Amino acid sequence: MNAKLLIKLFIFIIVLLFQTSFLFADQEPIRVRKFPNVCVTLRIDDVQSRITTYGQKWDNFLEIAEKHGAKLTLAVVPHRLIEEQNADGKLVDQLQAAVSRGHLVIMHGYNHICPLCLSSGHEFCCPTSARVLTIEKRVKYLKEGMDILEQQLGRRPVFYCGPGSDDEIESPNYDAVTTAGFRFITQGDKTYPFKRKEVIEVPCSDEFTWALTPKIYKKSLQEAKLRFLKLAKRSPGYFGLCFHDPFIRDGYQNGLLAQWLDEFLTYIDQKTRGKVWYATNEEVAEWYFELTFPKPSYQ
Ligand SMILES: [Zn+2]
Ligand SMILES: [Zn+2]
Repeated sequence: MNAKLLIKLFIFIIVLLFQTSFLFADQEPIRVRKFPNVCVTLRIDDVQSRITTYGQKWDNFLEIAEKHGAKLTLAVVPHRLIEEQNADGKLVDQLQAAVSRGHLVIMHGYNHICPLCLSSGHEFCCPTSARVLTIEKRVKYLKEGMDILEQQLGRRPVFYCGPGSDDEIESPNYDAVTTAGFRFITQGDKTYPFKRKEVIEVPCSDEFTWALTPKIYKKSLQEAKLRFLKLAKRSPGYFGLCFHDPFIRDGYQNGLLAQWLDEFLTYIDQKTRGKVWYATNEEVAEWYFELTFPKPSYQ
């Protein structure tokens, strides 16, 4: 082997070592202009659906997340908090307790029901009636939702998550959301945080546990692991994972999602040697806000 080839080989090994250690390097605090390692967010949508079949509790899921040091981003439908099934205030108590321990509440529509066609598949962009609410009406609903969350939970939300097919927030919904005062948006059509106009978007693009049953448990876990490995390879790695109520509840399939979460986070902890940044969507947005970010070519 000649000298030139040896030098090339040496450089190649150095680069390889640098890249590997970079991915799992010591975690940096937020707001430092350095990348964290692999960042994982867990967003729970439809908190809480009107289904009462499985009981209202989701303690096991929360406990498992906390066991791994993970934080939940709870996408709450404001109107649910003032409905009859939650008149006992237990859901509000549970949300307040979760927030006090570092989890995040964001706003998920106003009522998750379209006022034009009464579908729960969307709210402000109605494909069924091919009609749209005026922007003034949208802003009014959104602000009412923000008021409810502020009254019930003590903090006005700054993060918005569109319900159902509203998820891909385009004009005029985009304008309504920003006019109402939201600084951040989360939706599902991208796999990496990015900035559109003045709003930072932190996506949660993957869901593996919708209507999970023991029969599809192994397959869904395997798919999630493969997806994580793919997205964690980027530098920095980002993986936005989504779950839905009521499947996260203790009474759904004997707490199957809590078990799934435990296995999946154990896998992530092992793969990253514990150097994973489990963040809320808002922490990611704030971190992104502070960065001069490289243009992601893999959006
Ligand atoms: Zn509709
Ligand atoms: Zn939803």
